[in-house]
Amino acid sequence: MNVALIAHDKKKDEMIKLAIKYKDILAKHTLYATGTTGTLVMGETGLQIHRMKSGPLGGDQQIGSMLANGELDLVIFLRDPLTAQPHEPDISALLRLCDVQNVPLATNVTSAMIMIHALDEGHIKDRKRGN
Ligand code: PGA
Repeated sequence: MNVALIAHDKKKDEMIKLAIKYKDILAKHTLYATGTTGTLVMGETGLQIHRMKSGPLGGDQQIGSMLANGELDLVIFLRDPLTAQPHEPDISALLRLCDVQNVPLATNVTSAMIMIHALDEGHIKDRKRGN
């Protein structure tokens, strides 16, 4: 399965903790991330992650492009709901494409944990295999 990890700056610690906690599950999947998130998670966990550009520099749009192409099965996007982001249009587009493509999207840690369990138990649709 292809899983994208994105975290806004104030949520990066939570993303790292999440990735450490679920490292063994995440390691069984192909991981993608925006630049800074990917660098931090790789550094803290040793997980292999395909890194895009940093979010504000186009990384969210690169993840969006993968969504548009049906290349992602799960998106974990720990958003900061209390801070204005310069790349808000890119963020909105990414979230919208999850809905267009009906891709499961977790925007906070609790929903991310539930979805990672669902991933591990085989409840997330594999877009490449169509099941
Ligand atoms: P970053 O991007 O992982 O490069 O910080 C995340 C974002 O702000 O969308």
